[in-house]
Amino acid sequence: MMGDLKMDQITISQAKDYVGKEVQLGVWLTDKRSSGKIAFLQLRDGTGFFQGILKKNQVSEEVFELARHDIHLETSMVVTGTIDEDKRSKSGYEIQLSDIKIVGKSDDYPIGNKEHGIEFLLDHRHLWLRSRKPWALMRIRSRVKLATMEFFDKHGFTQFDAPILTSSAPEGTTDLFDVKYFDTDAFLSQSGQLYGEAGCMALRRIYTMGPTFRAEKSKTRRHMTEFWMIEPEMAWCHEEESEQIQEQYVAYLIQDLIDHCAKELEMVGRSVESLKPFTELPYPRVTYKKAIEMLQKGGLDVQYGDDFGSPEETFLADQFKKPVFIKNYPREIKAFYMPTDPEDDRQVICADLLAPEGYGEIIGGSERSYDYEYITNKLEENGLSKKDYGWYDDLRKYGSVPHSGFGMGLERFLAWVTLQDHIRQNIPFPRMINRLRP
Ligand code: ATP
Repeated sequence: MMGDLKMDQITISQAKDYVGKEVQLGVWLTDKRSSGKIAFLQLRDGTGFFQGILKKNQVSEEVFELARHDIHLETSMVVTGTIDEDKRSKSGYEIQLSDIKIVGKSDDYPIGNKEHGIEFLLDHRHLWLRSRKPWALMRIRSRVKLATMEFFDKHGFTQFDAPILTSSAPEGTTDLFDVKYFDTDAFLSQSGQLYGEAGCMALRRIYTMGPTFRAEKSKTRRHMTEFWMIEPEMAWCHEEESEQIQEQYVAYLIQDLIDHCAKELEMVGRSVESLKPFTELPYPRVTYKKAIEMLQKGGLDVQYGDDFGSPEETFLADQFKKPVFIKNYPREIKAFYMPTDPEDDRQVICADLLAPEGYGEIIGGSERSYDYEYITNKLEENGLSKKDYGWYDDLRKYGSVPHSGFGMGLERFLAWVTLQDHIRQNIPFPRMINRLRP
């Protein structure tokens, strides 16, 4: 059937270059309205959306009847017609159709142009991806990954790939997925950081970008079991400089979306104007101690030593108009490799970046201790074996230097900038405690 289809088609995104010309496009139907004399076909082709107009007196009887009766939601077809400018429509263009050939039938498409429950939509994620909002969200995701590569390239970073199968885990094994690995056990990586530290000693500034896995039982709007992280690691770098890189990175991503994805942002309900303030640096910095005071003054029941959950993060973020760094948390609630805060030895040198508008932590970062004895002791205290972590110790044994790094959750960042109520909307096929299909 496909053999007789010519593939010299244009795409909807190219329509602007073909005004007044006759062209062919491969499209799917997303909606249809017709009367006895005219049919309006809403079309998509993966690059965009626009309207096709079919007038009874300008096509054969057969084609007009085909459009009225045999084309349904998501029917795929090759259409021929002339591109017109259409200032009233969002795309700015439409096509006056002269011919239609059906390629793939689609009867009873399950997703209609009405409200569906979220579980239904997630069960049909393989089809739901074709709808407008998921389409826009996936384009924004792709753009953010591209901008990430551009940003780090401009700042002298080398992209570096950490393994996904590991024999050890940086922060204990409770949240780890284990997999059979021949006659032993392996784990799915929950962070590329430790390997990134090895990378930065070789390449000075590196970043990883890839999937990470956490067997977290938390059913929140901010947690998935598989999510993507961008994890830069920088040798010869203290925490202050790392925080500057973090804020520059976030501001860069937002400016890049304003410049390249204004249409997609509008489709998901995020105005470009509302993003502009987040491109202005610096972002405020508040110590953990000060944050506790602010929370207590605000009537929240927290004590020094507590970790922050969603209500605390939202309260703190609400006090500022921009993302805010919370610095130097108590040692007990942070990872073993963070060095002691010289101003208070109960604390470590680190910072989390909280997004405004109720989206909570998007980045966790810290300086990494480069002291051999400190790290050896910490490994021992945490019951982490020499067999698994000896290589990590080696990074301190052979020419160690001050270094810092951070991890940004891609879907957390995306959910914030696209104003999604759950991060699962920002990944093609979400994996959560109760969802492994499709
Ligand atoms: P949280 O306290 O919010 O669970 P965390 O302190 O465990 O996060 P880190 O280990 O510092 O997070 O991970 C770095 C970043 O990865 C976080 O700032 C967040 O953006 C993202 N992240 C962490 N866990 C998840 C998850 N389960 N799903 C999606 N993103 C996550």
